[in-house]
Amino acid sequence: MKILVVNAGSSSLKYQLFDLESAQRAVLASGLCERIGIDGSNLQHETGDGRKYNVEVKMPDHTVAVKLVIDALLSDDHGVLSSLAEVDAVGHRVVHGGEKFANSVIINEEVKQTIKDCYPLAPLHNPANIMGIEACEKAMPNIIQVAVFDTAFHQTLPDKAFMYALPYELYEKHAIRRYGFHGTSHAFVSEKAMQLMDNPNAKIITCHLGNGSSIAAIDAGKSIDTSMGMTPLAGVPMGTRTGDMDPAVVTYLLEYENMTPAEVDNLMNKQSGFFGVSGVGSDYRDLQAAADQGNARAELTLRMFTYNCVKYIGAYSVVLGGIDAIVFTAGIGENAPRLREAMVSQLGHLGVELDKELNYGKVGDYQLISTDNSKVKVYVIRTNEELKIAQETAALKNK
Ligand code: ADP
Repeated sequence: MKILVVNAGSSSLKYQLFDLESAQRAVLASGLCERIGIDGSNLQHETGDGRKYNVEVKMPDHTVAVKLVIDALLSDDHGVLSSLAEVDAVGHRVVHGGEKFANSVIINEEVKQTIKDCYPLAPLHNPANIMGIEACEKAMPNIIQVAVFDTAFHQTLPDKAFMYALPYELYEKHAIRRYGFHGTSHAFVSEKAMQLMDNPNAKIITCHLGNGSSIAAIDAGKSIDTSMGMTPLAGVPMGTRTGDMDPAVVTYLLEYENMTPAEVDNLMNKQSGFFGVSGVGSDYRDLQAAADQGNARAELTLRMFTYNCVKYIGAYSVVLGGIDAIVFTAGIGENAPRLREAMVSQLGHLGVELDKELNYGKVGDYQLISTDNSKVKVYVIRTNEELKIAQETAALKNK
């Protein structure tokens, strides 16, 4: 079964074409359209067997971008399909499904309207996702389109975990509550961990640590709490996002820095986190390098990140009533053994013991990094959100 996975941003569109029937669940082709609607738009396309095609070409909107992607997939030179009819379904990443979507769904007019109703909750992401969906509907009218939501996996949170202690009417009127994100990734790596442990009832803490980071508590395959909130701003400090802080800081900045709401929003989402505290940058590798050279603020930023991640793990180990596994994933989680060591070395009281050699060794698709004696298994598992979207899409197509 061939599934095209599309992740549309406001000026970009990423895609991967999977052949889920091949033994390797091969990626037949993947690529990226950049600067859609801006000067200098370009397509970068690569096939699974290494043929590359890069072209700078006008892309006034997502419809043109999708058309160019299809042309690339069908091309004699760098294509992988002889006909578009070979594509069985298209899976779209959609950021916010609000309270309406606890699972992936086949897209119809009603689904699209509901995604649009969630615009106030994700004003940057959902409109872009809809542009991607509508462009694909135009280009591939006879092919099933599926929406896979970042928030869906966390719809199992109990009310005591998702409610904010605001007046209840605001929840009723605006659906202001915790939703959580990175659901596709938390689902993918927790399923893998349950498989590796051969335990469908496992209690797992998944740490998706990347440019955006979130931590989730997962009990028998169900998310019961997660660090991000109504938006991805909450939780641990991130590349450019604050993570948790006293909400009174917002009104303080409005008043004493004379900022507008939009300016505060930009400050907290784009100028804070690793970038804002360290003054070095938002990339974890740059922080680590600066800290190694004695940069005190970079070093402080790393300590804050480690501290806040460990604090969530502590809280979630209580919420879960004990844990069977901790999983590290995403850019930092998969690639920063020093951070993993710094975090796990503070979890001895939970019975967690790191195997240092394994922690610093090579990671394939996954790696156990705890000792045989450890009461809690610690895994590094490479996330693959696109594959998970393809699998969800295929499951709906097969229904
Ligand atoms: P996104 O949230 O954009 O998907 P990623 O999951 O790709 O982000 O993670 C990006 C982060 O991963 C960056 O902070 C980057 O520094 C970090 N990272 C990537 N590779 C490494 C590495 N080899 N060692 C340490 N950190 C890494």
